[in-house]
Amino acid sequence: MILAGFFGSQDPSSNIATSLTWIFWWIVLIFTVMFLGRVFCATCPWLAISDWIQKLSLWGRRTRQFTLGLRWPARFKTILLAAALFILLTWLELAIGVTKSPIQTAYLGLIILGLTLGSMLLFERNYFCRYGCPIGAIQGAYSLMSPVELKAESLEVCKNCKTKDCIRGNEKGYGCPTYTYVGSENSATSLSCILCSECVKTCPYDNVAFNFRPFLKDLTSSFTPSHAWALFAVVILALTSFHGLTMIPTWGLLISLTEPYLGYIGSFTVWMFLFLGFLIGAVYFFVYLARLMSGTTMPNTRTLFTYFAVSFLPIALFYHAAHNVAHFNMDFMGFIKALSDPFGYGWNLFGTANIQVAPITSMDYVWYMQAFLIILGHILAVYVSTKIAHRTYPTHSQAFRSQIPITTLMIFYTMFSLWLTAQPMVMRTSM
Ligand code: SF4
Ligand code: SF4
Repeated sequence: MILAGFFGSQDPSSNIATSLTWIFWWIVLIFTVMFLGRVFCATCPWLAISDWIQKLSLWGRRTRQFTLGLRWPARFKTILLAAALFILLTWLELAIGVTKSPIQTAYLGLIILGLTLGSMLLFERNYFCRYGCPIGAIQGAYSLMSPVELKAESLEVCKNCKTKDCIRGNEKGYGCPTYTYVGSENSATSLSCILCSECVKTCPYDNVAFNFRPFLKDLTSSFTPSHAWALFAVVILALTSFHGLTMIPTWGLLISLTEPYLGYIGSFTVWMFLFLGFLIGAVYFFVYLARLMSGTTMPNTRTLFTYFAVSFLPIALFYHAAHNVAHFNMDFMGFIKALSDPFGYGWNLFGTANIQVAPITSMDYVWYMQAFLIILGHILAVYVSTKIAHRTYPTHSQAFRSQIPITTLMIFYTMFSLWLTAQPMVMRTSM
């Protein structure tokens, strides 16, 4: 991708750097995370290259590592770092238009490699993947719903384990690079586990496995995320919809209101932060209403926000999937064409260079599929939020009353999502 971006044609429709990254990869990422959790992390090229350099080895365990081994600063042990980089990534994609430029896409790939490698050369283990990587963070949030997890088979065995080799490492493998403990009861390992499988090798009791579990399990169990993760869940929800908003005709109207004063990039930035701030404020406000309607002052609004914000994740994931169904339909043939001529030099490696780039099926069918996905996401969100309410409040009546404002907001948001997908789409980018 990087070679094609630097040395290939700069026409985005003839270069695989743009179609591979912004069409194929994003679509595959969303659908794999839905069913297989953070499986992309296990195949991440930026991590693989950084790991080989840090360990000075392609495989096998080395005792010495090529790193300064500094401690990761405590103030950066927060997912808000990844949230900030996700906002920046969205801004680069849509305001600067990286998705339309092969060379900028290649530079972006190098920057992410630089961040991953730089953090691993400076700091011990691998904290960037846990706190800094926006792709890992989105996958972490979405995989709270996925039907697979890597966890200890028996928590009792972990409780009695004195050595904790999964964290410390042993002669068979490294200690967990992200300090994820697979043996705790009320935690979601997917928030930080990058599926490197070191703990599978190091556990002396063969107690770690990749398991199937019910869909939505982490969201409906007694696990409670941190406030930063809750905030990040709303950021994902907001930016996913904002992305859709920038691709419909209404966006042109909004931009025209401010562009004469602020220019395009200034206007884009203002609208993006307005949308983000509005949605975070709206979720806080409706959570506040939920607290009022429950008739009890405890828990307080901040705590309730932490509980309920993650219940919007199914809406975000299924809207994200619906959005990408349209991209798949419109752009997938372009990717197949680029496979045969990745640099745009006129090659025909697989005999697909001359295929017609056209939608696979009618956009009417696509809209029905999008509507189905969005409504399914809504139903799952209401289900999760109801479960959380019953976990939070001692009586059925309090839980029911608290759900009136939350469900109302979810209905508004689902209608907004349906309206977004029903608009004619200007196909500029994926995500
Ligand atoms: S996963 Fe294995 S090494 Fe880690 S605490 Fe549990 S039993 Fe011990
Ligand atoms: S060591 Fe285990 S828990 Fe830690 S990142 Fe690797 S697979 Fe996940």
